[in-house]
Amino acid sequence: MSGPFDTVHDVVIIGGGQGGIILAARLRRLGVPTIVVEKNPRPGDSWRNRYKSMCLHDPVWYDHLPYRPFPHDWPVFAPKDKVGDWREMYTKVKEINYWGSTTAKKASYDEAKGEWTVVVDRNGEEVTLRPKQLVFALGVSGYPNVPKIPGAETFEGDQHHSSKHPGPEKYAGKKAVVLGSNNSAHDICAALWEHGADVTMIQRSSTHIAPSNSLMELALGGLYSEEAVKNGIDHHKADLIFASVPYKIMHTFHIPVYEEMKKRDADLYSRLEKAGFLLDFGDDGSGLFMKYLRRGSGYYIDVGASELVANGQHQAQERREHRAHQPEERDADRRHRAAGRPHRLRHRLRLDEPLAGRPGVARGRRPRRQGLGPGLQHHQGPGAVGRRAAQHVEADQPEAALDPRRQPAPEPPLLAVPVAATEGALRRPGHAGLRAGGGAPPAVIV
Ligand SMILES: Cc1cc2nc3c(=O)[nH]c(=O)nc-3n(C[C@H](O)[C@H](O)[C@H](O)COP(=O)(O)OP(=O)(O)OC[C@H]3O[C@@H](n4cnc5c(N)ncnc54)[C@H](O)[C@@H]3O)c2cc1C
Repeated sequence: MSGPFDTVHDVVIIGGGQGGIILAARLRRLGVPTIVVEKNPRPGDSWRNRYKSMCLHDPVWYDHLPYRPFPHDWPVFAPKDKVGDWREMYTKVKEINYWGSTTAKKASYDEAKGEWTVVVDRNGEEVTLRPKQLVFALGVSGYPNVPKIPGAETFEGDQHHSSKHPGPEKYAGKKAVVLGSNNSAHDICAALWEHGADVTMIQRSSTHIAPSNSLMELALGGLYSEEAVKNGIDHHKADLIFASVPYKIMHTFHIPVYEEMKKRDADLYSRLEKAGFLLDFGDDGSGLFMKYLRRGSGYYIDVGASELVANGQHQAQERREHRAHQPEERDADRRHRAAGRPHRLRHRLRLDEPLAGRPGVARGRRPRRQGLGPGLQHHQGPGAVGRRAAQHVEADQPEAALDPRRQPAPEPPLLAVPVAATEGALRRPGHAGLRAGGGAPPAVIV
């Protein structure tokens, strides 16, 4: 059945997370009629729905949304609900045409008309949209990847994936086992430990640990920090500098950073290894950002939980691969599954393809990696990545649908105003891992 919206729109964006609204704001600036469809009720819900102790892992200067930077007193690492509320405010003040509680069900492309048919369920009503351009902005971190674990069905305690973690309070005084050893696992372990749970982290394979302060000072600080802003490098300039390094050679810029980190944080790394924690620095020693680009996971930005592992305050049990039926784990009152999310972009696209079976493309085969063909785009929005990606829409003029209709207003520069340290996953004011990087900015390293 078609509803009253059975009409031609220039762009439909499926997914109203950060990537979706950034692109929608950009298109609004360009005067391109756009609808964002989002299965959650409110903008920001994809952040609100995450585990309670979650804060941004990247600093505020990296995470600005286009046209509306965070206020100057915004925390360096904002807690998730605050981020969710900001996204909601942004969607309103940027007048984004946002359909919450709307799930995209299927889509097909008419080559002759150069038009998509997108069927959505909007609050229980089926509505058909007919955009020229379709954008998948479904995220890479939003889909839980729950491994099949022998014995899980007979485990008597609580068990859930990290995306469903209710928070630590009710587990005070109980035993908890967390499967996985990356960002979510560390955050959840730390919060449980703070609430008096007896926590064991199970590590299957090695993890890259990047202490937040070192990351700021050695890697990000030259581009995204208070010092960078003082030096005239706001996030626009930083994005440009960052984007000027081709991915093919990017690792060569990163390897020296992590060589330095190894020396600087040698004590922590050595204590982690003594505690049985398996470390790595990426395939070629190029560290965190290349790991993110290559596999979207495999790291923890340390805001304090590594110290707990190093001190044995929660145990890291290495190479115990999901032994839910082992007696010591059966004893655990509960078990978390922070076991990750589908971490390769291609996994995500394969999942999405049933939405968009296109003529000439055999079922199960991907048209092209980015899904780019006439009228089909993939958009993803972590911090600077989404901001930069949204800028590329101006290059699409020959396809007509994205012709700019008026010039965007100039963007005001970000003012350099000192910001206070904030609390993060460990909720300890002044924790060493939660401050903005200080000192003189290093050479710009991207
Ligand atoms: C522990 C953790 C820490 C992180 N820290 C940071 C950080 O510090 N800085 C940072 O920039 N990023 C961080 N990220 C990554 C963060 O997830 C992304 O930056 C951001 O959420 C990406 O936005 P997105 O729009 O690409 O995806 P998402 O936010 O996942 O949005 C995708 C949206 O698509 C919707 N959707 C899916 N299917 C459909 C459908 N069929 N119909 C309609 N809607 C649909 C989903 O409901 C969701 O809202 C972190 C992630 C995790 C897990």
